[in-house]
Amino acid sequence: MTTSGASPRISCAFDSGAIEVVADRDAANLSVRLRADSHADFRQWFHFRLQGVRGQSVRIRFLNAGEATYVEGWRGYQVAASYDREDWFRVPTTFDGGELAIAHEPSRDSIYYAYFEPYSWERHLALLGRAEASPRARVRDLGATIEGRDMNLVTVGEEGAGRKSIWVIARQHPGETMAEWFVEGMLERLLDPADPVARRLLERATIHVVPNMNPDGSVRGNLRTNAAGANLNREWQSPSRERSPEVFHVRAAMQAAGVDAFLDVHGDEGLPYVFTDGNERLPTYSPRMAALERGFTDALKGANPDFQTVHGYPADKETKVNLTVASKWVGHTYGGLALTLEMPFKDNADLPDPLRGWSGARSQRLGADSLTALYAMLPSL
Ligand SMILES: [Zn+2]
Repeated sequence: MTTSGASPRISCAFDSGAIEVVADRDAANLSVRLRADSHADFRQWFHFRLQGVRGQSVRIRFLNAGEATYVEGWRGYQVAASYDREDWFRVPTTFDGGELAIAHEPSRDSIYYAYFEPYSWERHLALLGRAEASPRARVRDLGATIEGRDMNLVTVGEEGAGRKSIWVIARQHPGETMAEWFVEGMLERLLDPADPVARRLLERATIHVVPNMNPDGSVRGNLRTNAAGANLNREWQSPSRERSPEVFHVRAAMQAAGVDAFLDVHGDEGLPYVFTDGNERLPTYSPRMAALERGFTDALKGANPDFQTVHGYPADKETKVNLTVASKWVGHTYGGLALTLEMPFKDNADLPDPLRGWSGARSQRLGADSLTALYAMLPSL
């Protein structure tokens, strides 16, 4: 028996793995199909491993990329890859309107490809563990997901009257892994006893963080939905224990604690920019809400030049405001500062990194720097 001339093999039986293999015999002519979310018809996220291709010219075609949920997401997009699951880089990728194709020569026997740098369930649990170990934080159990995973809330700082209640939630859409990288960067800074911004912020505010709103979808490798096929960011007006227990539990905790500021962290498939989407379309939008949004976005621009306010969703994107969306429901219910924050799957076109594109590390920095912006806004909240 010899290993020379062994066929390549594609696999995805691991945390957030997702792909359908069509042909994996010939390294120069591999083909796959994007898999739908486990219980809904969304297709975009992929994460798989290719073995047995060291030094070979690999070409992988995604045959149904033209039928993806966000086809515009493939224009100007480069696939993320890693040999060691730590260092992720981009590989040459083309899109012809129907098929997406990767062409490069791996220098190792095994390589992982993903829509974006993954954020694993194990890393999520380790993040909760670091919070638990800090004297500044509590990790609370809010309830279970549909498949029995834990919905945890990290509360940093003392709780009580006279303190501002700031909420940050991430990864309602599980394929938007940059959102949990963002939260990791923010939590690391909040828990750092040497950080003066965190110390001052925590004198007057309590920060409530839900690092992962969609654990089932994350482990299953879904793009947008939970294990009941629900898009959680359309469940905020009337969440149910049956279809959206994740939102049901978090919304109840928000109602108990109150909300003075709210950030809902996402990734955007199409736009190559970091931006926020505000509440200017709400009928209850007030001059105070406008001033808070402007103050926060100006402060974040100053704290982190990856953030900008030129490119974003058009203000008239939805003529009728959708109160089932988290930041709209929060803005409508509580007034105050309530924003959706979007990071790119591609890169920030204003400050590009051809090697890595937008990345977990850049998301972490943005999360950490968003505390500077929240601190600047604290007197106004
Ligand atoms: Zn999203």
